[in-house]
Formats: sequence, C-alpha cells, structure tokens
Amino acid sequence: MTGRGLRANLSAMPTDSLVHDRTKLEPGAVTRLSPLVRRVIATNPSPFTFTGTCSYIVGQGEVAIIDPGPNDAAHRAALLDAVKGERVVHILVTHTHKDHSPGARALSVATGAPVWGCAAHVPVEDHPSGRLDASHDIDYAPDVEMRDDDALQGAGFTLTAVHTPGHASNHLCFALSEEVSLFSGDHVMAWSTTVVAPPDGDMAAYMASLERLAARPEDVYHPGHGAPVLNARRYVRGLATHRRQRENAILARIRDGDADIATIVARIYVGLDPRLVRAASLSVLAHLQDMTARGLVASSDGAATLDANYTAT
Ligand SMILES: [Zn+2]
Repeated sequence: MTGRGLRANLSAMPTDSLVHDRTKLEPGAVTRLSPLVRRVIATNPSPFTFTGTCSYIVGQGEVAIIDPGPNDAAHRAALLDAVKGERVVHILVTHTHKDHSPGARALSVATGAPVWGCAAHVPVEDHPSGRLDASHDIDYAPDVEMRDDDALQGAGFTLTAVHTPGHASNHLCFALSEEVSLFSGDHVMAWSTTVVAPPDGDMAAYMASLERLAARPEDVYHPGHGAPVLNARRYVRGLATHRRQRENAILARIRDGDADIATIVARIYVGLDPRLVRAASLSVLAHLQDMTARGLVASSDGAATLDANYTAT
C-alpha cells in the first residue's frame, strides 16, 4: 500500500527525480531499464498504487522476477510473455501487501521457480487501534525466507536482501550488486511518500531504514510503484528531512491545541483526496506512536491510538 496525495507540504523534497511521464508507465508493456533489469507494470492502478505495481525481471536467459504483484491472470500472462524462451529460476517478494505478493504462488506453479523473499506476515491482534493490517496477503508462504544480508546468486547477477522495516515489518529491499542499484519496494518511491500505517508500519523503524539506505552505495532505485528513483541517496535524505518536518508540524498543531488526529490531519493535509484520509490518519498515528515513545507527547489513552487526545509534554 502506498499513498499518493500524501505529498502535501513536500516543499523541502528534492524534486529532480519526482517527474513522472505516465506514458512510460504503461501497464502490461515490457520496459528495459538497464542491461539487467526489465519492468512489467500490473493493471492495478489506484490512489494507493499509482499506475500499478511494478514487477521486475532481473537477468537474461535465466531470470528472477521480483514482486509478481496481485494474483491477476492478465499480469501473469504479461510476465510469462516477457520471459518467453527464458527460464524463471527465482521469484522474489519485497513484502506481503496485497498489491505485491499474491501473484507469487501461481507464478511459481506456472514456472516451477521457488519463491524467495520476505518473511510471512504476522497479524497484530488486539491492537488498540483495531484491525488495521487488512492490507496484508496472509496466504503468502515463501519457499526460502530471506533474512537481512542473505544473497541470491543468479546467472550473472546477485541480489542481496536488505531488511527495511517501517512501511511493513517484513519489508526487504534487494540490492543488485552488478549494477549498484536497489529494488526498493514500497520503502522508497519517487511518486509519493510511503504510507507508514500502524500496527505493522512503524515510524521509528522506517526512519532507521532510511538512514540505513542512505549509507549504502546504491544511487538508482527501482521502486514498487512508479519510475526509477535517481540520485537516490540524496532523495532518501530528503525523505528523512520531510518526515522530521511532518513531526514538527504535528507537534506544533498539538501545542496549538489541536488534540485529536482528525483535526491534525485536516490542518496538515490541506486538499487531501478524501479516499486518502484514513491513510493520512494512520500516518499521523505512526508519528504520534513514535513521539509518545520518545516522550514528546502524551496520549489520553496511555498508548497512541486513533481516537486518543494528545497533549505536548
Ligand atoms: Zn506496500
């Protein structure tokens, strides 16, 4: 899950990698992005998925497919068509949101390739904010669960898992050493800021994962939605700055007497698409959980919840 429209107040963001030519993001078409990387976009465009989920084909002849996307016959056919005459040896999954992983098993059956990737989703029960993780594919079960720094050796390419919790607790990015690029899933995208929605999403973890990526050598990212992110390390630092500004804006609203999340969202996300209000509310909640843990604000519920009233400490 991602969140277009959450880009309100992104004035401090670097903008050179944010320009999108949608004609180059045509669902179903095969687009070569580099000697080792091809992209096929699924036909699931929405306010949360931009032009649709990006599936990536890595290698030539013997290939890996990253993020098969939704369990959609037309997208699977487009992927199989794109690799006609080649052999799919591995299927990789960045995280278990329903727009990324449900196509993995059927593609595995069609190709005989095992599913490698993130851990299965562990539902969070009895969270004070209610059941908020309905966006996860709970049927996903990898054949090989990859942990941080686990590497997959393909024919002419190496993909190394980088555990990047925050958007999803099981989220992995995959570094492609031969091209010094990174498949960034939904952790870093150019078209929108990433939704960090509790309980599975975690703002402190997200910030730590951004820092981790900024310290890595890759400067080109292939995201789960939208065009490649160029100048990626600079962009990642911009994302971190943006989140700190968002945190400051929330704190300023609370100091001004805006006590609840609905009021804060209305004041901060001016002109927000109504379909994205819930995502924005969860994003503010993620900040408030982090800020409560750090002692910056206090919640009337003790823990940070969607319905609590907040005061600055
Ligand atoms: Zn996602």
